[in-house]
Amino acid sequence: MENKQSLTKLYPIVQIRKDTWEIDEFDVASLFLLIGTEKAMLIDTGMGIGDLRGAVERITDKPIIVVHSHGHIDHTGNSRQFEEIWLHPADQDMPIPDSVERRRYDTERIAARQKGSIGAPYNMFNLYPYDIEIDLRDPKDEKKPIVKDLYDGQQFNLGDRIITVYECPGHTAGEVVFLDETNRMLFAGDAINFNLGIGSVPLDTTLLAMKRIQGMSSKYDGIWNGHHDFRALGMPLDNDCLENIIRILEDLMKGNASFCECPSFWGQPMPLSKTHIGAESNHPYAHKQTAFLRKGRNFLRIDRNYSYEKTKE
Ligand SMILES: [Zn+2]
Repeated sequence: MENKQSLTKLYPIVQIRKDTWEIDEFDVASLFLLIGTEKAMLIDTGMGIGDLRGAVERITDKPIIVVHSHGHIDHTGNSRQFEEIWLHPADQDMPIPDSVERRRYDTERIAARQKGSIGAPYNMFNLYPYDIEIDLRDPKDEKKPIVKDLYDGQQFNLGDRIITVYECPGHTAGEVVFLDETNRMLFAGDAINFNLGIGSVPLDTTLLAMKRIQGMSSKYDGIWNGHHDFRALGMPLDNDCLENIIRILEDLMKGNASFCECPSFWGQPMPLSKTHIGAESNHPYAHKQTAFLRKGRNFLRIDRNYSYEKTKE
């Protein structure tokens, strides 16, 4: 890997607040850099494109704590550029992709989705100074960092800036959010989004977690999630997002929810597919996410068998 001396550091980056940055991994993942007086925190590491560490070190020379919202590969991809990472134990068995082909496959689809061009080849919209053949890190060249446990209520003191970890299982069992009370910001990874996929834990567990996050709303002015396909770079999610997730979950629990048609997020051609994220798709997770629920702009994806039969009992 390190023979790739020319890995780009030229990520699109915006400053959101004082000492707070959103780093766009080329329309694939949103990473956040929070800088205190003593240390910096990097939330998530994207899919594994380019020299993320180099980009971060251009912004700050403080020691970097690398934390993960969850264990999905589009959030842990560049973790191996760092010696040590923090991840909730429930997600620590999630694999880092073992082939560059798999990594390229997911990169292309997420990039197309985020550019609002579902189904289009990613290179039609390749606006950024990276070359996927050069800049996509090959997993087999990477060595594993030390993995430390995140837990509910854990606090990181960055120096005049304390970040608190809260579990929010649903999207994954080990999903967490990070609250920065000093700057009144909540960083949610994939826990909260307009196109949320859930089903890793029982629904009532997810509902309780979401309500707890909502109950803390006096402590933050905005929620920033780990992708920016439903918000502008640097801007928080609209306020209806979390509220609608809670309403959908409540409806599901009561057995009132009905599944709807929804465009695939993974490049499946139109028209809309009712039953399957990708019966025709060869995406490795296609079979798992089969049903959609809708409220306002929110789509929620869940395994039909998992949720629906459970709530009917
Ligand atoms: Zn995820």
